[in-house]
Amino acid sequence: MIQSSNVNRLMRIQARPGSPVERRHYRYPENRWAQLDPDAIAPGIPPDASADLVFHGGKTVPQMEFQNVFLGGQASWLASDIDSINTAITLAMQDRRLNNVVGQFFDRGVKLTCDPRPLLVLEEAKPVQLDEPGVQRLVQQLVQQGKVSDNDLGTTIFNLLLPPGTILKLNQDTSIHGLGGYHGSVDFQQKGRSQTAYYSANVFSQRLPNGRVNGIPAFDASWKDVVGTLYHEMNEFRTDADVGEAIRKNDDSLLGWMGAQGEIGDQPINAAGEAGNLSMVFQEILSSTGGGRVPVQFLYSNAVHGAEGPIDQPDPAAQKTDV
Ligand SMILES: [Zn+2]
Repeated sequence: MIQSSNVNRLMRIQARPGSPVERRHYRYPENRWAQLDPDAIAPGIPPDASADLVFHGGKTVPQMEFQNVFLGGQASWLASDIDSINTAITLAMQDRRLNNVVGQFFDRGVKLTCDPRPLLVLEEAKPVQLDEPGVQRLVQQLVQQGKVSDNDLGTTIFNLLLPPGTILKLNQDTSIHGLGGYHGSVDFQQKGRSQTAYYSANVFSQRLPNGRVNGIPAFDASWKDVVGTLYHEMNEFRTDADVGEAIRKNDDSLLGWMGAQGEIGDQPINAAGEAGNLSMVFQEILSSTGGGRVPVQFLYSNAVHGAEGPIDQPDPAAQKTDV
């Protein structure tokens, strides 16, 4: 059981190592790496079973859909970036060898699927910043105005993609201080009944013209950073869909897979940051289907007690222990 104060601290965000946002949400004892087994999984990162994900009984989504929603209109984006992001995240989420890692958090024999809906470019002025109430208003409007389908909302995530320069906020955190993205859900009335829609918000990570860093630049191109963030958030939706609701209701039983250092995407990025090398877990992997190289952020695996890249054979199922 994690303390409810931890639920509020350890949650649904991707944070840049060493940033104020990371310091606020993740705190480690000094020299923790010195006490650990020196065997490496992602080379350079020691295994740490205390970070294993624990199942709390909440919602997971083995068969999911997603829709990428690009904010700020065509004028804010390179068409080639939109294309690259859409293609790469689809390949990553469907990748057999990557799913051999994530599959451990689902019952044996359950097939992981992830189907894309047609991307949407919202024609609007480029937003200067976006906070979570703004994210939730936008998602609700998209559904209520019929700009996105309201079919299967319970298994669909709408990924809001911020254009270059737009600042993402979550309460007191901002992407200028290391926030890369987050995921959550919003409840609203639609056609006379209550609905829940799931979303992620994702920063276009880059060094801005004024020299400040927005988000988590880890690759040699911002579109790749976006895919890394999407991969992180979408797999957290898969394995811990209702974390936002768990926080709102202060109810741990709504959590899916969550460990002492956060959700499936969180410990790897923090560990790589501790080791001083983000490229340990932000890597371009060879697509299993021959689609070329795909940028992803490695996820946490209970099987190796740390970040794990693509593998040929599925990991054994993670134990569901009583919490
Ligand atoms: Zn996360």
